[in-house]
Amino acid sequence: MRHKEMPPFRADLHCHSTCSDGTLSPKEIIDLAKSLDLLGLSITDHDTIHAYKTVLPYAEEMGIKMISGVEFSTEHKGVSVHILGYSFSLKNQAISEFCLKHKERREKRCLAILELLSDHRMPILEEEIYALQPTGNIGRPHIALAMVQRGYVQSVEEAFKRYLAEGKPCYIKGKAFSVEESIDLIHQANGLAMIAHPHLLKHSSLLNDLLKMNFDGLEGYYASIGHRTYLDWIELAKKKEWLITGGSDFHGNIKPNALGSSWVNQDVFEKLHNHFLAA
Ligand code: AMP
Ligand code: ZN
Ligand code: FE
Ligand code: FE
Repeated sequence: MRHKEMPPFRADLHCHSTCSDGTLSPKEIIDLAKSLDLLGLSITDHDTIHAYKTVLPYAEEMGIKMISGVEFSTEHKGVSVHILGYSFSLKNQAISEFCLKHKERREKRCLAILELLSDHRMPILEEEIYALQPTGNIGRPHIALAMVQRGYVQSVEEAFKRYLAEGKPCYIKGKAFSVEESIDLIHQANGLAMIAHPHLLKHSSLLNDLLKMNFDGLEGYYASIGHRTYLDWIELAKKKEWLITGGSDFHGNIKPNALGSSWVNQDVFEKLHNHFLAA
């Protein structure tokens, strides 16, 4: 949510740490959130909840309320769909096992991408990627960074544009999990499932399918995207009595999105926070 006048309570519910492809550690994100006067936060790393191994006591110490979060990569009819999971139990075994499967999927996919890069005369060693992501939760941004380090491209953006983006010569989709199984898993862990950044959905036919699925809400406020882009989504969510969440999709210095550039108010956050405490 973004208003001309900012309320004292703002919670950013979408950001990425060094546990996936962000450039700040979970603690550094808390410090930044504190300096921006954010009072609520969820770290939503891609397919991992590793940040929550350490971050909750520190957030509490700094006076920032947190709910559990994750952004699952899924696929529907061959198209990529991101799902935000919130307020699930961090002790749930199924969710930890699912994250582990994602990690294996990412490792295999990385090797396949490195092979393609080598075919394009841009060899990169696996170790170079792991040096950038010691937890092993590898994403394309790490491969892009390694390409920059090797001098194959000038920037992460160029690496995506020329080689790594969907449809480019070194893109590999790899194994994918369905939207439905990912929603079910979040629910199994007593969490809530949201459609992430709906404006990025590539095909409108996807929308009809997604709206019939068992989501609990959608991300109706995103980074500094103009509010008008989202009016239709917000109307839809209201009709379905879905929750409307929001966040910046902050990644540190590899993406322009600023922490706190989108947020939810106290009402929305308290609903999610109460759900988290009960999960
Ligand atoms: P992966 O999860 O490995 O498929 O990588 C997805 C990540 O790559 C997302 O977090 C995006 O922020 C980033 N990404 C996707 N497309 C681009 C792009 N064109 N330029 C820079 N980053 C991108
Ligand atoms: Zn990312
Ligand atoms: Fe996303
Ligand atoms: Fe994200």
